[in-house]
This record gives sequence, C-alpha cells and structure tokens, in this order.
Amino acid sequence: MAIVLGAIADDFTGATDLANNLVRSGMRCVQVIGVPHAALALDDVDAVVVALKSRSCAVECAVEDSLAALDWLQAQGARQIFFKYCSTFDSTDAGNIGPVTEALMTRLGATQTVMVPAFPVNGRTVYQGHLFVGDRLLNESGMQHHPLNPMTDADLVRVLSRQVARPVGLASHSVLARGGEATRRHLEALHEQGVGHVVCDTLDDRDLAAIAAAVVDLPLVTGGSGLGQALPVEYRRCGWLAEVAEPGRLAPSAGTALVLSGSCSRATLAQVARFLEHHPGMALDPLALAEGEDHLQDALTFARERLADGGPVLVYASADPERVKAAQATLGAERAGQLVEDALGRLARTLVEEGVGRLVVAGGETSGAVVSALGVRTLRIGEQIDPGVPWTQAPLAGREAPLSLALKSGNFGGPDFFTRAFEVLT
Ligand code: ADP
Repeated sequence: MAIVLGAIADDFTGATDLANNLVRSGMRCVQVIGVPHAALALDDVDAVVVALKSRSCAVECAVEDSLAALDWLQAQGARQIFFKYCSTFDSTDAGNIGPVTEALMTRLGATQTVMVPAFPVNGRTVYQGHLFVGDRLLNESGMQHHPLNPMTDADLVRVLSRQVARPVGLASHSVLARGGEATRRHLEALHEQGVGHVVCDTLDDRDLAAIAAAVVDLPLVTGGSGLGQALPVEYRRCGWLAEVAEPGRLAPSAGTALVLSGSCSRATLAQVARFLEHHPGMALDPLALAEGEDHLQDALTFARERLADGGPVLVYASADPERVKAAQATLGAERAGQLVEDALGRLARTLVEEGVGRLVVAGGETSGAVVSALGVRTLRIGEQIDPGVPWTQAPLAGREAPLSLALKSGNFGGPDFFTRAFEVLT
C-alpha cells in the first residue's frame, strides 16, 4: 500500500521530532537517514520522514538532496509532501527554506503552499506573520546570535520574500479563527492574486487544526512538527488512514541495555549524575583516548563485565565545561570531539555485535556518529520517552531481532531520562 505522507526534514533531530508527533497522532512512521537507494518494505507504514542535513549546507546541495528525497517519496506513492524545517525558521537570505520550497513546488507542479513553523505547546507562535519564541519576537529570542543562521527579522513574510521568486502572502489569525473552510477560501483568493507562499498565523492548536483542514489537498505543505501533529486528523477524515490501536508498537526488544553519552549539555550532565546514583558507569577521557588503544579497551572490558551482571551500563565522555575546555586546550576542539565520537561509535558497534539490544545515545553529533558506526539507515518510530524523543527500532544486517535505539539530543529529557527510557520499553 502507498504511504500517505512523505516528509523531507532538513536535519536529523528535526526529522525525529516530526516522526514522533506523527506517531502520537496515530500514524505508523519510519524515519530514513538520507535518501534510500532502493524501495523499502512499507506495507504497514503511513508516513516516511527522510532526514537530510540540508539546513546549513550550500543552497544547491540542499535543493539537490531535497529533490532526490522528493523523487524517492513519490515513488513510494506519497499523497502529500511535507517539507519540515525548524520552528525558529532557521535560514538566511540565501536559503535554504525558500529555494528548497520553490524547487519542490516546481517539481510537483504546485502553484501554492503554506509556511507553518509554529509549535504552540513549545512556545513557538506566529501572529500577523511575526514569529515569537515564548513572549519574545524571534529576533530578540537569542536566535539573532545563532552562529550559522542568525535570525534578525521576525516578520516571516519579509524574511521569506527575500528567499523566493513567487509572491508571499499571509493567512492571519482573524481568518483562521473562522475555521478550516474560511481558511481554504482565503488561500484560494490569495492564489487568484498569484500568491505562491502563504505564511500562516498560529496562536494555538485550534489554528493548527484550521490550517490542516484547509491544506489537506495541497501537494506540498511546509512547516514545523506542530503541523505534523494536526494533519493526521484530516488524513483520517479523508479515509486515508487505517485505524491502528498502537501506531508506535515495536517488536519486543531483546538483549542487554547500554547508554552511551557524548553530550556535555546541561540536561545530559544531570541525567548522567542521576543514572550513576544507582547504576555503573565509566568516564571516557579524550586525553587518554589520544594516547592509544588502552583507554578504549578498558572501557570495553568495563562494559562487558557490567553488562554480564545485567546492566544497564553507562559509558560517557560528558563533562562539565571546565573539563571540556581543558581537553580542547590540549587537543583542539575538533580532535577532542572526533576522538570521543570515534570511541563511542566503536563501543556501540562492538557491544551491539556482542549482544546489546537496547541502546540509548545522548548527543546530536554523538547520535550521528553512533548511527553511522552501526550502519543504521532506517528507524521505525515507537513510543515517546520524553517530549521529542521516542524509542526507535532499527533492523541490522546479520542480526535477527532489531536493535532498540533512543537518540537524544543535548537538552532533551528529564533528569531520570536514562533509567525511565528502559522502563518505557518494558
Ligand atoms: P549535544 O546534543 O549535547 O550538543 P553533541 O553530541 O551534538 O551533543 O555534541 C557534543 C560534542 O562534544 C561531540 O562532538 C563530542 O564528541 C564532544 N565531547 C564530548 N565529551 C567531550 C569532552 N569530555 N571533551 C571534549 N569534547 C567532548
């Protein structure tokens, strides 16, 4: 059966965030890392999210990768395409949100789409086309200092107008408040005036519901994961979704339980400390890793012994800012990070081969390193552990049972995340 929704996400954690919301709204969802080289078995899947790394790369690369993802998703029969970007509209005047959107529209033959970055429950709202983070305008939210894409203008109509060729318009809250049908008529009126991109106000979930009702027939929608939470209601109304009791149901997990942490974010440091109160853990030191194999072999021996005792076990490079600075002063920031990522990747590969079946990874870059060391390309999305972080399952070559994998970026998750993750799974 063909999939209903095909999504193209401009980064990895954003892809997971969207996939997690789709599952929570009743869709069975798979996330793929990069554009697959072949068709996948998608018999019991409603949505596929393709995770790209196109947020901050050159425009031409972002467009090329996004079009390749589109071609693949269309080959899987996707009824609607969703271009997912950050709820803070991370982009520059050069792109990549505008140029990617227009390239997707052209390939799809679409003459209009919507821009819906807001996620009200997370404090991202849009009013009169202006994006707010909590009670601050985007350009006063801290995002004006972002190292790659400083957001110095909160007026999304103006921001987007600098990135695209087609005219940009607005669907304001006063229209959305009149419901889905009124919103649809407004989009049609704008379409007659030649407006290709409609920035949508969003104050709350009712606005998201009105937008979803108005756009369900568009070939392309764009926005944040909030829109992903609202669309499945409309797909169900259209009769496109089978009723599934547990869309996040995964195969029973097997094997021992391991946590690998390369994140030094504040939330992760608290999670590491909390875990160590009741479970064994070993710290990795980048300076010792730089000296040769011994430190990594010690970590392997430690993990093997404790896993044999029943686990869960933690191996972590997570350290407070002073320790990180000291390592970086000696090794350079890039080499220190690379040593840690390589070590955690090798630990993951070896220990999974030896029987780890439930793996929690902390850190965005760290997750990328572990996933590529394991050769993971496809993640089936399961139940949420904490907001934005679901359990996933990955088939691995040469292994009968899939690997259960939770990938947590820095500041996600409550203090007891590592222990609760394994409780959620059982
Ligand atoms: P987060 O999601 O919290 O930003 P990331 O994994 O994306 O975490 O980034 C953390 C980076 O810091 C990684 O490159 C990791 O290898 C590096 N790192 C981890 N521990 C240390 C350490 N003790 N010293 C120096 N760098 C470290």
